[in-house]
Amino acid sequence: MESTQNYYNIGGLNALDLGERYDYPVYVYDSAIMKRQYERLINAFKVKNLKINYACKALTNINVLKLFREMGSGLDAVSIQEVRLGLKAGFHPKDILYTPNCISIEEIQLAVKAGVKINIDNISILEQFGHLHPEVPVCIRINPHIMAGGSHKISTGHIDSKFGISIHQMPHVKRVVESLSLKIEGIHMHTGSDILDAEVFLFGAEILFNVAKDFKDLAYIDFGSGFKVPYKPNDIETDIEALGAKLSERFNTFCEDYGKELTLKFEPGKFLVSESGSFLVKVNVVKQTTSSVFVGIDTGLNHLIRPMFYNSYHRIENISNPSGKPRIYSVVGYICETDTFCTNRKIAEVREGDILTFANAGAYCYSMASNYNSRFRPAEVLVHEGKDYLIRKRETMEDIMRNQVELPIFDKEVVE
Ligand SMILES: *Cc1c(COP(=O)(O)O)cnc(C)c1O
Repeated sequence: MESTQNYYNIGGLNALDLGERYDYPVYVYDSAIMKRQYERLINAFKVKNLKINYACKALTNINVLKLFREMGSGLDAVSIQEVRLGLKAGFHPKDILYTPNCISIEEIQLAVKAGVKINIDNISILEQFGHLHPEVPVCIRINPHIMAGGSHKISTGHIDSKFGISIHQMPHVKRVVESLSLKIEGIHMHTGSDILDAEVFLFGAEILFNVAKDFKDLAYIDFGSGFKVPYKPNDIETDIEALGAKLSERFNTFCEDYGKELTLKFEPGKFLVSESGSFLVKVNVVKQTTSSVFVGIDTGLNHLIRPMFYNSYHRIENISNPSGKPRIYSVVGYICETDTFCTNRKIAEVREGDILTFANAGAYCYSMASNYNSRFRPAEVLVHEGKDYLIRKRETMEDIMRNQVELPIFDKEVVE
């Protein structure tokens, strides 16, 4: 299945009209798709206590955070700044799980002060934390060493990830927990990659249950994310409904054996927002070289880096010439660096001035944008209940100069 996004109609509004109103390039998000995805998850898992924490690094506009808060979602934050953004968006501190990696104990203490839930992913920090805050319950992030995504192979021997505490180190963790009387309230895993196969996920879950049974004060088990969404034709999508049925059953049995109704938690980013986003851009030039036809657009890796960074696929459609004869193009950016969005892609005939749209532009697109080449970051627009709202202004020269300190010593008049 490929991305199911409608290119021409975003939440009931005409995409080209939106583009004309806000100018190009522009990110447009459809709140109805975020809601649809959130509800799919809520309905897929049949357990007494379920909590979805939106992993906000995917798309950090404060209005999107507020939208998820209103739906009843919690928040997964990976930095103290995301914690603060979540608090600003009105999340209760107890509904924020702070899951950082390789940060200092000082930043963790700021999160303790903020009253949010803490997830610890290495033994050194766990020990320091236990000395400083023995009374504060924490969650521990386990690395189950499963390989999810890409292949069906499960490699439990794989130990080269920087995330989480290895399952092989559990005896050490238990000694630290006992000697410092730490209260472990949660067990967590997040494999980080696209999970193609529910069986791989369930295999990881078994490892987590096996760890969890030895901790007596648990309130929740958090299975992280990694849910895949469709991008290209014949793409596999995580079958959330099938996974939900299987994992719920297994979770309920675990709770019975454990003797307590725990909360089942997930923290998806991509699944919730990827398909809600469209990136509308304008074609600057169509350039025929000896071997290819390049379409040069008014954006680049400064606004959408996923294709260059992860080799990710975004469907591209020519919405101003949809009935044009399909031809083969390489779509490239305007950055002085090779920024290729795609090569040899069939798109309806492209003319200079045409408007193209990128699908799956909700997750890890704007949130990874930069000012490289001193260009402005684009505007963001939210379509909500049939109306469009500007939720982030396009940048200006002032934004480029903000925080730059101009030294007067270079402004001295030249004396002959
Ligand atoms: C990035 C991240 C997520 C979200 O991952 P997706 O693939 O976008 O769903 C969840 N949990 C943690 C700890 C993360 O770092």
